[in-house]
Amino acid sequence: MILLDGKKLAQKIKESIKDEISIFVAQGKRPPTLSVILVGDNPASQIYVNKKIKDCQEVGIVSKPFFLPKDITQIELEDVIGSLNGDDEIDGILVQLPLPSHIDTLEIIQCINPNKDVDGFHPENVGKLATGRKGGILPCTPYGIMKILQEYKIDTFGKDVVIVGASNIVGKPMGLLFLWEERSTVTICHRNTKDLKEHTRGADILVVATGVPHLIKRDMIKEGAVVIDVGINRIDGKIVGDVDFEGLRDKVYAITPVPGGVGPMTVAMLLQNTLEVYKRRVGIL
Ligand code: NDP
Repeated sequence: MILLDGKKLAQKIKESIKDEISIFVAQGKRPPTLSVILVGDNPASQIYVNKKIKDCQEVGIVSKPFFLPKDITQIELEDVIGSLNGDDEIDGILVQLPLPSHIDTLEIIQCINPNKDVDGFHPENVGKLATGRKGGILPCTPYGIMKILQEYKIDTFGKDVVIVGASNIVGKPMGLLFLWEERSTVTICHRNTKDLKEHTRGADILVVATGVPHLIKRDMIKEGAVVIDVGINRIDGKIVGDVDFEGLRDKVYAITPVPGGVGPMTVAMLLQNTLEVYKRRVGIL
């Protein structure tokens, strides 16, 4: 069994980002700048935002955090984003999700300048991904998963890929990436899928992003499958994935651990996207 070590790969990517930024700064250019917006006091979101800020510092990206009150209005939040869109010194804008229920999340995402949308969630970037057009910004989690597969030389071309979970941030863009980039045959499952096991057992590559701890059991995969576990679930203070790792480990060809698999890669690709938008903005690309 090959353990797909996302933590190690993320570190390697972060080091190369750091090296690249230090060269630009030595040439007298300003460093890349990412603004991170957190609304309210959701503890999990605070942890994610702090991790992103710390990782920015580690590679030389300037982070500008905005901690906004949970009762901020839609208009006030849109105004904050509007001013960041117009600020030439800001390269990337990230709005930590989920937002409080009184805020229209899709409207907020749509307010972000697509060229600064380092999460890749703006409809213009999603549209580019959906139509196979180059030049968009890829969403961090699916982008990170592709990087893991490339690093470990997992053959994806024309494979049967099954994705469990159909969210806008993971499942759907993941499916589009496999379809366009890898010419895979893609099946996306969700809560109303009639017979989940029937689909997952056919997968050469199985990606699971549901938020249901240990949903995928040993009898639900085929021998020699590649399994990517996106899930992050907290049970009794421990983080577990959506896959029963111990039950699957001697049946798979390769598998990501939780933690230490997809999670670190998501943050690494956020830094990578910030570097890319910066390079476009200062005319390096
Ligand atoms: P969402 O809740 O937005 O989407 C979950 C998806 O899973 C939905 O499409 C839902 O179906 C489907 N689903 C839920 N239960 C089942 C089931 N029993 N059988 C089949 N499908 C099911 O979640 P996210 O995509 O945002 O996140 C999923 C998981 O990944 C979470 O644990 C999250 O914490 C984690 N995550 C991890 C990241 C990382 O970097 N490692 C990044 C982002 C998320 P339906 O559409 O029918 O509701």
